[in-house]
Amino acid sequence: AKSAGGNRFELADAEADARVITRHGLTTALPAALERSEFFIEYQPLVHLGDGSVRGAEALVRWLHPQHGVLGPDRFIPLAEHTGLIVPLGRWVLEQSVRQARDWRERHAGTATAPLRINVNLSPCQLTHAGLVQDTVDILQAAGVEPDALCLEVTESALIGADDDLLKPLRRLAEMGVDIALDDFGTGYSNLANLRRLPVSILKLDRSFTQGMQQFPADPVDLKIVEGIVSLAHSLNLAVTVEGVETGAQAEQLRILGCDTAQGWYYARPGPPERLHDLALADATT
Ligand code: C2E
Ligand code: CA
Ligand code: CA
Ligand code: CA
Repeated sequence: AKSAGGNRFELADAEADARVITRHGLTTALPAALERSEFFIEYQPLVHLGDGSVRGAEALVRWLHPQHGVLGPDRFIPLAEHTGLIVPLGRWVLEQSVRQARDWRERHAGTATAPLRINVNLSPCQLTHAGLVQDTVDILQAAGVEPDALCLEVTESALIGADDDLLKPLRRLAEMGVDIALDDFGTGYSNLANLRRLPVSILKLDRSFTQGMQQFPADPVDLKIVEGIVSLAHSLNLAVTVEGVETGAQAEQLRILGCDTAQGWYYARPGPPERLHDLALADATT
């Protein structure tokens, strides 16, 4: 039936097939990719807004696919969540990141840099996985890293309406000294009063807020909203990290609003671990 229309339809079909094969192909390739170590981690600095020093980094996973090149997490994390592979993959990311943090801390011992901390993203599937607390304890112990060097980032949407069973492992980790950050804050319509119930110590303000501050001066309504969130957070003893800072003007306005820590291209794109080491050392010696 399509032949009358000529190649155009066939081509469209072929493209649709290729997309299906890619999605399906990526999903089935994930377990072997983990075994073959095709994943790697980039680190993006977290910078103290008050003095500009590097305080740590967020670990962001990538997949060096043998045919498709480097794939970002948005391409494969949802697939890994769907198949459950996110549990071993997430454990691998945690293990690598904690070892990396130990390496930075050892190399910086005796310098003026504050001990670097590591932020690792946790998918909702990992939260419901029974081994989370023990795995985390084991990984920290094996690497000889103190729990307070680690921050686990959980999205606001994963915790909306969370019951006690879901919060229990996070509470245990928080009691041990692991920081819990509420990621993408401001996108999930969470009940602000609910924040008190959550074992979090850091709010990560979503990039959408930072985007409103590209101009100087920023939109007064945007400023008021961020100001309100920061003062609420601080009154609950939560630190505020802002993501997606791309310009000096944004950084300055967010600093004036009282945000504590920033992350974004203005400081550095995600990169290899040596880069973070160099950045941290550079600001310790200047
Ligand atoms: P996220 O946790 O919100 O991470 C921040 C994302 O913003 C990263 O994208 C980062 O590269 C990007 N970004 C940083 N600074 C800027 C900036 O100034 N401007 C702009 N436009 N973007 C900026 P990336 O690396 O593509 O990661 C996307 C998402 O994938 C992450 O969002 C996180 O939810 C997820 N992800 C990454 N690594 C992991 C992981 O190991 N486990 C899990 N479960 N999720 C991960
Ligand atoms: Ca994150
Ligand atoms: Ca985020
Ligand atoms: Ca985000």
